[in-house]
Amino acid sequence: MKALAGLNKYLIKYKWLLLLGILFIIISNLFGVYAPKVVRDAFNDIAETINSVTVSDETYHTAIKQALIYAGIYMMYALLKGLFLFFTRQTIIVMSRYIEFDLKNEIYHKYQQLSQSFYRINNTGDLMNRISEDVSMVRMYLGPGIMYTINLAVVFIMVIIRMLLINAELTLYVLTPLPIMSVLIYYISKKINAKSHQKQQQQSLLTGIAQETFSGIRIIKAYAKENSVQRKFEKESQTYRKHVLDLVKIDALFMPVIVLLVGLSTILAIYIGGLKVYEGSIEIGNIPEFVIYVNMLTWPFASVGWVTSIIQRAAASQERINEFLNTVPDIQNNNPVAEPIKGEITLQNVSFTYPESGITALKNINIHIPQGQTLAIVGKTGSGKSTLAALITRLYDVCEGAVIIDGKDIRNINLDVLRSNIGYVPQEVFLFSDTIKSNISFGLKQHNLNEEKIIQAAKDADIYDNIMQFEQGMNTIIGERGVTLSGGQKQRISIARAIIREPAILVFDDCLSAVDTETEDKILKNLQRIMQGKTTLIISHRISSVKNADSIVVLHKGQVVEQGSHQELLDKKGFYFDLYQKQLLEEEKIN
Ligand code: ADP
Ligand code: MG
Repeated sequence: MKALAGLNKYLIKYKWLLLLGILFIIISNLFGVYAPKVVRDAFNDIAETINSVTVSDETYHTAIKQALIYAGIYMMYALLKGLFLFFTRQTIIVMSRYIEFDLKNEIYHKYQQLSQSFYRINNTGDLMNRISEDVSMVRMYLGPGIMYTINLAVVFIMVIIRMLLINAELTLYVLTPLPIMSVLIYYISKKINAKSHQKQQQQSLLTGIAQETFSGIRIIKAYAKENSVQRKFEKESQTYRKHVLDLVKIDALFMPVIVLLVGLSTILAIYIGGLKVYEGSIEIGNIPEFVIYVNMLTWPFASVGWVTSIIQRAAASQERINEFLNTVPDIQNNNPVAEPIKGEITLQNVSFTYPESGITALKNINIHIPQGQTLAIVGKTGSGKSTLAALITRLYDVCEGAVIIDGKDIRNINLDVLRSNIGYVPQEVFLFSDTIKSNISFGLKQHNLNEEKIIQAAKDADIYDNIMQFEQGMNTIIGERGVTLSGGQKQRISIARAIIREPAILVFDDCLSAVDTETEDKILKNLQRIMQGKTTLIISHRISSVKNADSIVVLHKGQVVEQGSHQELLDKKGFYFDLYQKQLLEEEKIN
């Protein structure tokens, strides 16, 4: 229950809605409580009229008139009760929706702050669940949960007082079945919740299977695995059906339990009430009045059980949400002051071990890139090149040593400034399922957006002609909803996205791996102009991409093994020379 305390700040934020809601609940119930009194008076008056004198036309008419008047009053009460019930929902349920909105935003905001390692540990389904399912559960507590609890308290007090005033003994008899109903409903609700949770999970699993099948359909067809995928789906579908049927079975108990116990109360009201009328301790009209009271108490008593289980579930959900909200991002912005970046980069004794896998990717790296120069990094796969790029963009913080930009440890540089001054082309291209134009201009601020810049960036990345071949040009939608691009085309759009920002630092992580050497040459030539005055890090496993760099570093198993210009490294006849020879041979084979 403590977990739910975190929501109090929202209840305070919307206190006026809540207080108004409570007021409406009270007013609505006042009309509700007086309605049975009208019925009693109607019964008593009409009985009196009919019993008073010998039946004549006149008494008949009086009785009809009385009945109509009482019916009118009863109807008015019912209407007013309904009206205020409407207002109640308009305040408390609306409040719960506002809070749901706020809470989702709070979680989403947190998601944006959390670092990469968080996303490696937690899977997407889990992240989605907290923001959708768990938040919905919490909303059930904030909306119906709170509303029915307050309603229960108000109705209970009002109705019990009226019943006790009429006859304490009858009240006691009539009320006995109701607490039993609360307890039963509580257990039924708990079972329902558990089962629907199971159902939900199985549904997620099914969705997951379907989704994976759709994205992997090419492989499935190529390996002729349709049948086995089908069987897997069928098996999980069967489990799903079982859960659903279980749920239906328990669900089916809900109403009968209520009806049975309320029926018992009603019988008691009529039987014991009848005896009391016979004794003369209550009036005949009190019996229907009591029956209506019992009906008024039905839902509140049932809701005790239901609400209790809702609150329990909400508490569990909120605990899961809090777990994320209380996660402190590993990468923190330690400097609120935004100062411009020139771009001199130094790595000082940098070592890095991935916290999730314990793999030491970099060991004691010392590298210096003067402002405006180009440094290239070559090395085999797994030598730590991408890790180095991730450290410079501060996607991870170093474990030992420091990354220093313009003489300042990057942990003390404003994080926004740092990242917006780095044009980073990651090794794994990610493009949004949006137009080419929006993908290229993604990193630009709105006021900087202009068509010419986008076109120029596309030309520099040597993708412009390709784009123009599409019918929609720059407005072509790519990804799931649109055109599928080749690996090389994607890489070039990714490059255009990085260079359009004209950042002080450019980091290209193996971003030409999927283009042929001819295109590579063309892009590198265009980039020469863009790289003017910018500090550039080119990472590649291909010598052709790096040979023109001011300096080249050879990484091997996370360590710098050679450093120098292309010619110097060739003369050394070491790692670089070997790599060069191998790649020359390969190229000859191709040509
Ligand atoms: P390269 O870019 O040179 O191919 P990486 O920097 O990607 O090399 O990887 C260096 C080492 O770190 C590899 O052994 C790799 O398995 C490991 N590694 C890379 N990324 C991660 C990660 N996110 N979590 C754990 N280990 C990783
Ligand atoms: Mg890499």
